[in-house]
Amino acid sequence: MTAVLESPAAVDLRVPWRNSFAALGPAFFTRLPSQPLPDPYLVGLNQALAHELGFDPALLASPDGVAAFTGNVPIAGSDTLASVYSGHQFGVWAGQLGDGRALLLGEAQTPAGPQELQLKGSGRTPYSRMGDGRAVLRSSIREYLGSEAMHGLGIPTTRALLVTGSDAPVRREEVETSAVVTRVSPSFVRFGHFEHFSANGRIDELRTLADYVIDRFYPDARTTDRFAGNAYAAFLEAVSERTAAMVAQWQAVGFCHGVMNTDNMSILGLTIDYGPFQFLDAFVPNHICNHSDEQGRYAYNRQPNVAYWNVFCLGQALLPLIGDQELALAALESYKAVFPREMEMRMRAKLGLADDQEGDRELVESVLQLLAKDRVDYTIFWRRLSHHAAGSGAEPVRDLFLDRESFGAWLRLYEARFAQQEGGREAAGLRMLRTNPKYVLRNHLCEIAIRQAKLKDFSEVDALLALVQSPCDEHPAHEDKAGFPPDWAQHIEISCSS
Ligand code: AMP
Ligand code: MG
Repeated sequence: MTAVLESPAAVDLRVPWRNSFAALGPAFFTRLPSQPLPDPYLVGLNQALAHELGFDPALLASPDGVAAFTGNVPIAGSDTLASVYSGHQFGVWAGQLGDGRALLLGEAQTPAGPQELQLKGSGRTPYSRMGDGRAVLRSSIREYLGSEAMHGLGIPTTRALLVTGSDAPVRREEVETSAVVTRVSPSFVRFGHFEHFSANGRIDELRTLADYVIDRFYPDARTTDRFAGNAYAAFLEAVSERTAAMVAQWQAVGFCHGVMNTDNMSILGLTIDYGPFQFLDAFVPNHICNHSDEQGRYAYNRQPNVAYWNVFCLGQALLPLIGDQELALAALESYKAVFPREMEMRMRAKLGLADDQEGDRELVESVLQLLAKDRVDYTIFWRRLSHHAAGSGAEPVRDLFLDRESFGAWLRLYEARFAQQEGGREAAGLRMLRTNPKYVLRNHLCEIAIRQAKLKDFSEVDALLALVQSPCDEHPAHEDKAGFPPDWAQHIEISCSS
C-alpha cells in the first residue's frame, strides 16, 4: 500500500468568488500557493467587517479559519497569486517590485460588493527580492489597527479583516515573530502597476490594465465629454481628484503616511500600505514619522505635494494611452483645484463653519501657526475647541497654549465668525464633536498593544479596535487613551522595517 498525501480540505467561506484580476492573464502576476506557518493563532478579528462581508465570525476565528487566513489551508474559490508592479521609491525609479510578501486570494462577492482579499506576510514570491516574504507581529498589528482607524474616521482606505500570528521567528533589527494580515479592498491595483508596463514599453498590457480599472471603477471616464472623449485622460483626472481628496483628509486629521512611494498609492484613492504611519501628537508641520526618511521627503506638510508628484508619475505612465501631453497635463490640473478646495472644506468643518466666507482661510492658517508655535497637541486642541463651541468654557482650550494672548486674540475672531452662523451654537458644536475625533491611534497606544500582544495578551488590540472604530464617541472606560502622549512616546522610532 502506498500512502497518499491528502491536501488539506479547503475552507468554504460560503460566498461566491469571481477573480477578475486573475482573468487579466499571466503578464500581470504569478500564480502560487501560500507558504504555511507553524501553529497559527488568532491575534485580532474585525467582527464588524466580517459582518459587512457576510462572513461568519465564528468560522474565521475557528482553527480552520485561522489556518486558512494564515495561508496554511486553501480557501474554496480562491485563485492565489502575487502581482507584479514597479514604482518610484523616495523619488527614484526603483524598477520592478511587486507583491513580495502579499498574496491575492481573489475576489469575494460580498454584500458589500466585490472585495479582493489579500494575505500580507504569507511567504516569499517571485517578487520578494532579498526579503523573506514575512511580516512581523508588530507591524501587522499596526496595519490592522491603522487601517480601521482611518475607516473609523471616514477616510478612504483598504481594510483589515483579521490578523493571525505564529511563533516562527523573523529576523529584523532583532528576532521577532511572524504574523499575517488579511486586507480587504475592491482592488489592490497601485500607480506602480501602470508604471511597470509603461516603463517596459508593454503598451498592450498597459491598455488592458487601464481598461480593466476604468470598466470596474471609473465607468464615467468613458462617457464624459471632457477631454474630447479621451477616456484615459478622464481616468487620470478622476484618480487625481480622488487622491487629492484623500490627502486633504489625511492633513485635516493629522495623519502621516510615511512611505508615499508610487507603489504605495492606490489607483482607487485609498490609503494603503500602513508602515511607519503616525497620527500627529504635537502639531509639528514638518514632522517626519518614518525614521528611515532622513531627508524628510514624506514629512507631514510635504504630503500634498508628494501626492501631486505621484499622480504626475501616473500621468507619465498613462501618456502612451492618452497620446497627448497637453491632455495629460490638463487632467493633472484637477489635483491643484481639488486639493485646496477639499482642504478648506475639511478645515471649515473642523471649525464648525457650515458655509464659506471670506477670511475663513486666514482663520485656519492663523490657528495652525499658533498650534505650530506652541507645539500644541493637534487632536486634543480640536476636541477641546469643539467642546468650547458646544458651550463649555474656553479655559481648557486656552490652557493648551503658552502664548495665551495670541490665542485669545484668535479666539475672539473665531467666536465672532462662529456667532454669525444660522442654526445655533449648540448644533454647530455637536457637529464639531462628530468631526474632530476624541481618539486617534497614537503611536504609544499601538506600542502598548504590541507589547502585550508579544506576551500573547491580545485584549489591548481588541480594545483599540473598538475605540478607533468609533473615534468621535465617548468611551468612559478609555478616558486615558484620549490624553496627552507620555514622554516616552517621543522616543518611539518607527522605520520601514516591518
Ligand atoms: P513597502 O516599502 O513595504 O511598500 O515594500 C516595498 C517592496 O518591498 C514591495 O515590493 C514589498 O512587497 C517588498 N517587501 C517589503 N518587505 C518585504 C519582505 N519582508 N519580504 C519580501 N518582500 C518585501
Ligand atoms: Mg508597499
